[in-house]
Amino acid sequence: MIAIAIDGPSAAGKSTLAKRLAKELGYIYVDTGALYRAIGLHAVRQGVSPADAERVAALLPHVRLSVDYSPEGQRVLLNGEDVSQAIRSPEMGMAASAVSAHPAVRAFLLEQQRDMARHSNLVMDGRDIGTVVLPDAQYKIFLTATPEARTHRRMRDHQARGEQVDYESLLRDILKRDEQDTNRPIAPLRPAEDAVIIDSTHLTLDEVVKTIKALMGRA
Ligand code: C5P
Repeated sequence: MIAIAIDGPSAAGKSTLAKRLAKELGYIYVDTGALYRAIGLHAVRQGVSPADAERVAALLPHVRLSVDYSPEGQRVLLNGEDVSQAIRSPEMGMAASAVSAHPAVRAFLLEQQRDMARHSNLVMDGRDIGTVVLPDAQYKIFLTATPEARTHRRMRDHQARGEQVDYESLLRDILKRDEQDTNRPIAPLRPAEDAVIIDSTHLTLDEVVKTIKALMGRA
């Protein structure tokens, strides 16, 4: 099986890139952030603070997550309910970032993610795919861009969905998530030693795809 690990900070364009590569290569695309978002959503719905490690851990035995794939992409089911849309809000991004710092949550999701890579060629995006989840992935990319460039991209995503968002508050969220994801003691956001770092601030999606395919000898 072939795995391409794509890590990097929020809104660096990982999912757009990963989807495009998966499509061109005929691989499955796995968005691991969606799994953390679903756990964040579950906590919020149960009235549990996503930052409360003990209470979040106590919820995990009641969480059944599954992922299925259709031509439209990945669907995430939380205890059988399709939450693919509900997890996309900025609030759920923050909730995901908070729950993802708890060791119990990371352990809960680790095997599920590894299992996917045992059965399919895939492009998996996240924060710790190249470092922790799939350290033996054949290709590892760390995709980054300045916080301002990432905020503009995230704004365009929200606007495309007809949602009103404010630049300053999105930038604040992105900086806060960078801080939380980079400084947590477990599986912090950092490039694997053997990752190729791509700064996409001044690159188009096509240029990034071309760089990666060249790396794979598929240009
Ligand atoms: O990528 P996305 O914005 O959906 O991720 C939401 C949050 O989930 C991130 O801010 C990060 O804290 C967490 N996450 C993680 N490890 C991953 C994927 C996401 O810690 N592999």
